[in-house]
Amino acid sequence: MRILWFALIVFLVLWIVAPGLFHKALRRSEKTAPPPPTPTTPQPTTDVVACAFCHLHIPTASAISGRKGVYCCEAHRNEAEGS
Ligand SMILES: [Zn+2]
Repeated sequence: MRILWFALIVFLVLWIVAPGLFHKALRRSEKTAPPPPTPTTPQPTTDVVACAFCHLHIPTASAISGRKGVYCCEAHRNEAEGS
């Protein structure tokens, strides 16, 4: 009969103490856990356009714009637009 009382006391102590311990553990894990990864979509560093004549892909910054589109070089613009 004494063991039943002991078990009851242990159970009560655990019942009172366990939630506190659980909360502490949760808080600790929250602190140490790495931040959730943010969804990252691959961002193109430079915009790329295709030459209207040879379809070569070139950065927008170095593209030569013509009347019918953008070109990779003067020669292709002249070739495509005849000027
Ligand atoms: Zn071209």
